Amino acid sequence: MRTEIETTGDVRRFAALVCLCVLAADALLRGLALLPGVVPTLMIAAPLAYAMGQRLRTHQRHAQALEQALHHDSLTGLRNRASLHASVPGDSLRPCVLILADIDHFKRFNDRHGHAAGDLALRHFATLLQANCRKSDLAARMGGEEFVILMPATTMANGHLAAQRLARRIRQSPVFLDTGPQTLTASFGVAALLPGDTLDAGLQRADRALYRAKAAGRDRACLHDPALDTAPTRPQSTAQIHHST
Ligand code: GH3
Ligand code: MG
Ligand code: MG
Repeated sequence: MRTEIETTGDVRRFAALVCLCVLAADALLRGLALLPGVVPTLMIAAPLAYAMGQRLRTHQRHAQALEQALHHDSLTGLRNRASLHASVPGDSLRPCVLILADIDHFKRFNDRHGHAAGDLALRHFATLLQANCRKSDLAARMGGEEFVILMPATTMANGHLAAQRLARRIRQSPVFLDTGPQTLTASFGVAALLPGDTLDAGLQRADRALYRAKAAGRDRACLHDPALDTAPTRPQSTAQIHHST
């Protein structure tokens, strides 16, 4: 039986129904005079408590699944863009580093190997990012073949080193398709997220540095430099999609 309990009135009606059932069952068991003392009460309470417990367990599972879907990307299992926005430490006094990563020539990869192989490559890429992050870092998929790593309390120099290490790891870790191993490369833009900065401002700086990494030949990491990064952000970049949270 499916019981929809949505309003306070539903809850009251449900409680009244349960009480009536309990009273009727209690009267029946006592009326038959078969069972002494607390036994009838326990016979009624035990299955009720069990049913309630099962119901709570189901609700808990649904809540966890919803929470997972809300904050994670379904393809890679990484955090999603909304979750990244919610995770930026608003009150941190120490600068964070943002690493924006974009897989190189991914359209060509899809065209050559098919969309399913592309999805496999995205999962592979996400696993590499996650495996090469510190526990305190947060890796998220921004959309398409773009990812971000938020590194709390990190200097630009260390962020740059981390991005260069990632570029090397990705280059050295091919994705295994039915047709054989395929090398992936990615380009990285690294920028600081200073106390008081919005995430979007930090992402735009990282995107400009990424633009330069692409223009310089891809498969590399560039550090944001206001003197060099005067070009607008890349036209199709998901990093510049406005997010209101
Ligand atoms: P660049 O080196 O300049 O970044 O070139 P690119 O080909 O990687 O960039 P472009 O923006 O032209 O193409 C991105 C491609 O990513 C196109 C799109 O089909 C593919 N893509 C986006 N999301 C997914 C996805 O979820 N699965 C798969 N398989 N492909 C995706
Ligand atoms: Mg892209
Ligand atoms: Mg790309």
